[in-house]
Amino acid sequence: MAIRRILQLGDPLLRVISAPVTDFAAAQAVLADLDDTLGEFRRTHGFGRGISAIQIGAPTRVILLRFEGTLYELINPTYAAQSPEMFELWDDCFSFPNLLVRLQRHCSVRIRYQDRHAQHHELTAEGSFSELIQHEMDHLDGILAVDRAPSTALATRDQWLRQQRHRS
Ligand SMILES: [Zn+2]
Repeated sequence: MAIRRILQLGDPLLRVISAPVTDFAAAQAVLADLDDTLGEFRRTHGFGRGISAIQIGAPTRVILLRFEGTLYELINPTYAAQSPEMFELWDDCFSFPNLLVRLQRHCSVRIRYQDRHAQHHELTAEGSFSELIQHEMDHLDGILAVDRAPSTALATRDQWLRQQRHRS
């Protein structure tokens, strides 16, 4: 287990399409590093809910989420359904922590995935859990939040916080 360096925007590895997991022992080692790395990011940045294996340089289809007090380990996730309804949000990413991106995501998604023991499961996610899953699923295919937004929808974190304060 180790805290790993998080790849930053511009690193070509972030554009790689990750390979399906077949070696679940190896996936468990990746999950341990993802949890350590996510924990460290939350301690140092004060936010963060999910991370994909490619972000620590492991091109394998593994996602770790800590959402509302629950740990989720998603291996080989695929979409079973995506709602036609979309919603707009400000997204962020460990790989560009000072950039906020306004984009659209599906209101709800249903996914199939395997756990660390290769058992199959499904889950349905709505709202902020749904957009979190879509963000991390994109990483598995080399897609970043900035790809889903026009350039007018980008803001540095400092500027975004300034705008939030003016709004409230
Ligand atoms: Zn991200």
